[in-house]
Amino acid sequence: MSDQNKSEKHRLAMVKQKANVDAAIANANRQQSVVVFLTGNGKGKSSSAFGMVMRALGYGQRVGVVQFIKGQQKSGEELYLEKFCPQVFFYQMATGFTWDTQNRDADKAAAEKAWQQALLLLNNNSFDLVVLDELTYMLAYHYLDETEVIAALKNRPAEQSVVVTGRGGGEALRAVADTVSEIKEVKHAFRTGIMARKGVDY
Ligand code: ATP
Ligand code: MG
Repeated sequence: MSDQNKSEKHRLAMVKQKANVDAAIANANRQQSVVVFLTGNGKGKSSSAFGMVMRALGYGQRVGVVQFIKGQQKSGEELYLEKFCPQVFFYQMATGFTWDTQNRDADKAAAEKAWQQALLLLNNNSFDLVVLDELTYMLAYHYLDETEVIAALKNRPAEQSVVVTGRGGGEALRAVADTVSEIKEVKHAFRTGIMARKGVDY
């Protein structure tokens, strides 16, 4: 095919693509808040959620974050928000990983306490964006009641969007979410012995 033919073929393909995109944009004409659920085994769930935190803050929106799993050390996003965004509500569950603590009662109590914080956000219409990071594990371990969690997501303020992250997560969570992304692990550096890295992994 000559270069001229290639260019013409490309132009026609772009015209068609633009028509498709324009039609899709015209179709999405409702203004409404959303529940975004980020799941799957690949890396990028929590960091995507914190990307949305940054977006919301850029517009001066009010943001609340509840983390349902506590890491060994403070994450970069936590340090940053503490230092530069004291207006962001930030609560981290007060226990370690369940396979570290091995104390179901203490973990369950901590999960419930964190959920009470989440409920305060989910009942407060001044919050534009709420992140419930690693919430799925609380459901998987039955530390929290799934029906109650789903009801709270459904009954949130009309203008409030929520991001839920974590591997797994049942059908009910997928059903209540407007956007669900499953991040697939293609590779992870950790599997070849590379240590988790500051600024990348935490
Ligand atoms: P991130 O916080 O980097 O966006 P994530 O939220 O998708 O990751 P989690 O399951 O919450 O993933 O795990 C958090 C930590 O575990 C991060 O340090 C991340 O790099 C690491 N991690 C994520 N996926 C994998 C994987 N498939 N294998 C090993 N480590 C992983
Ligand atoms: Mg995560």
